[in-house]
Amino acid sequence: MTRLAALGERLESPLLVTNLTNVFYLCGFDSSNAALLVRPGGETTLYTDFRYAEAARAVPGVDVEMTKRALTLDVGEKLKGTVQFEADVLPYLEWERLSAGKAKLVPTRGIVDGVRAIKDDEEVATLRKAARIADRGLEALTAETWVGRSELELAWRLHELLHAHGAQELAFPSIVASGQNGALPHAHPTDAIVEKGSLVTVDWGVRVDGYCSDCTRTFSTGGSLPDELRRAYDVCLDAQQKAVAGIRAGITGVEADAIARDPITAAGFGGNFGHGLGHGVGLAVHEAPRLSTESTDTLEAGHCVTIEPGIYLPDVGGVRIEDMAIVRDDGVDVLTSFRKDLIEVR
Ligand code: ZN
Ligand code: ZN
Repeated sequence: MTRLAALGERLESPLLVTNLTNVFYLCGFDSSNAALLVRPGGETTLYTDFRYAEAARAVPGVDVEMTKRALTLDVGEKLKGTVQFEADVLPYLEWERLSAGKAKLVPTRGIVDGVRAIKDDEEVATLRKAARIADRGLEALTAETWVGRSELELAWRLHELLHAHGAQELAFPSIVASGQNGALPHAHPTDAIVEKGSLVTVDWGVRVDGYCSDCTRTFSTGGSLPDELRRAYDVCLDAQQKAVAGIRAGITGVEADAIARDPITAAGFGGNFGHGLGHGVGLAVHEAPRLSTESTDTLEAGHCVTIEPGIYLPDVGGVRIEDMAIVRDDGVDVLTSFRKDLIEVR
C-alpha cells in the first residue's frame, strides 16, 4: 500500500498537508512550494506552482493542480467543506489566507509525523548507510592532528572527509566544541585553537537519499585532563550505555530519559544535563518522537531515535555521547558504530 493510501485510511475528513517534508514523505515530491490535499480513502490533489509543473506531473497517484506562487491564497479559494490542517507548521499569515475561502478549517497535529516516525526496512537501510558514512568520515579525521588547529578548520575538514566517504550533504552544520566551548550543548565552531589536556565534542551527521544521521563523540587531546572532566566522561558513558541497554518499544519518552538521567543525577551532575535524552531522526534531523522529561510520546517499534546524554560544566568543558538507534520490541538496533571509550587524538 502506498503511503498516501495508508494515510487516507486513517482520515475521517480531508487533510491539507503543508509541511514540505511530509509532502516529500507521502509522495516523493521535493519542492519549496507545495501542498497535498489527502481525502479519506487516499484520493489526493497535489498543489504547486509552475516552476515545479514538470516534476509534479511525474508523481504517481495524485491529481496535480497548478496554483499561483501565493499557494495558500489560491488553495483557500478551491477548498470546500471541513478540511484539517497541520496546525504546528502553518504560519498565521498562511492560515489567514486559507481562512479567506469557504472551507471550515480544523487544526490537527502530528497525523503524518506519527506515521513518518515509524521507519520501514528501506528507510532503516538508508539511515544505516548514512550512519556508516558519517562514522567513516570522522574516523578519517581522528587519524589527523587536532591540537593546534581551530574548531572551524576541523569542521571544514570533516565536511570534506564526509563528502569523500559518500555523504550527499551535511544533515546539519557540524559541531566541533573544544575546551570551555564544550560546555555549550549547541556550540558553533569558532576559531578557538584545540589545546592539549582538553575534551573536544564533535556532533555531526550526513544526509543520504534524504535521510539524516546524527551522532556525537567526545575526544581527549591527551596531556593532563582535569579529574572532573574525566569523571564526567565516565558517568556520561555509563548513563548512555544504560539507556542503550534499557530502551525498547512500549516505554515512554519520559521513562527512556530517566534511564540515563538517574545515574547522572546520582553522580551529582543532575544540574549539568539540561536537555532531553534524545529525539527522532529521519527525513528531518529532529522529528518525532521525543525522549525527555516533558515527552508525551511512547516508543514504538520502528522509531529511529538518538540516545544522547550530556554533562556540561560551565567554564570547564563538556561531554556528550550520542548514538542513533532503531527501537525494537526487545531493545534497540544501534546504527552508529563509532567507538565510545575515551579516544585520545593528537
Ligand atoms: Zn547530534
Ligand atoms: Zn541529536
